[in-house]
Amino acid sequence: MPVLLLAGGGCATVATVHPREAADIGSASRGSALEASLARPGQVTFQRVAFARWTGGRGAFIDRDDPRTAAVPKGDEEATIYAYVIDHPRFGRYLIDGGVSRALEPRLNPLMRRALQDLNVRIDRSIAEWLAAQTPPRAVFLTHLHFDHVGGVLDLADGTPVYVGAGDAEERNLMHRLTGRPADIALSGKGALREWTFTPDPDGVFAGVIDVFGDGSVWAISLPGHSPGSTGYLINAVDGPKLVTGDAVSTRLGWEQGMPQPLPASARAAAEASAAALRRFVAARPGVEVFLGHQSRTGQSD
Ligand SMILES: [Zn+2]
Repeated sequence: MPVLLLAGGGCATVATVHPREAADIGSASRGSALEASLARPGQVTFQRVAFARWTGGRGAFIDRDDPRTAAVPKGDEEATIYAYVIDHPRFGRYLIDGGVSRALEPRLNPLMRRALQDLNVRIDRSIAEWLAAQTPPRAVFLTHLHFDHVGGVLDLADGTPVYVGAGDAEERNLMHRLTGRPADIALSGKGALREWTFTPDPDGVFAGVIDVFGDGSVWAISLPGHSPGSTGYLINAVDGPKLVTGDAVSTRLGWEQGMPQPLPASARAAAEASAAALRRFVAARPGVEVFLGHQSRTGQSD
């Protein structure tokens, strides 16, 4: 969620001080192997679940200081907080992103609570409520550590493993100090964050790719820019490949019109390269279904 996007400075702090270790699953691979996996029958089921919504001024999603956004009229964007459920026939159930917890807000600092009230965040269901009728996930694969992606981890059982791209915990931003590091609260009770260690993709399809289960069914994709460790996921589902972009591209304005996000100057080039790699990949493979960070491709919220 692009709240309080302020460039890092002397008062900046990291996204989380939660302990970290290298991921215990997944192996670095290459873009051509990911591409080859698309030709094999999918074996994983995939579903998207909407947890909350908010309405925000368009300037929170596209960079109004960039002349490319000048023709986009003023107005609001409707945003949804999603998580994704994947069920692997051998390895079980996993979540992509953490959804929402009702227990998070009372533990946030006053500034962060105020920011949420200003955004009028409407919670449809929390992870705790969703879990009442669901098999709990064996682990969570995060797209990044911003609070609207990690918050619901608070509702998962203690010890549920949480995976995230290397570098994300170290994102230095004044925002994290002002908001009191909500990721620390969401991750309390969980073990060390398990970091995907990407190596450069020798095929140059993406910055890096990891074969999560070693069978080509689920891939973690390095998409730095929105945050240093931003990670997308490609799921070879039974009903076709699904690409979860995280906030590497969060809106239809970003995906369909290439509108840049408001980001610190130091992150813009990486963000544009990540978004361009995603667009190139999908343009060549129109059968890949795209799931943007906070909006659906069709405009329907769930
Ligand atoms: Zn977000």
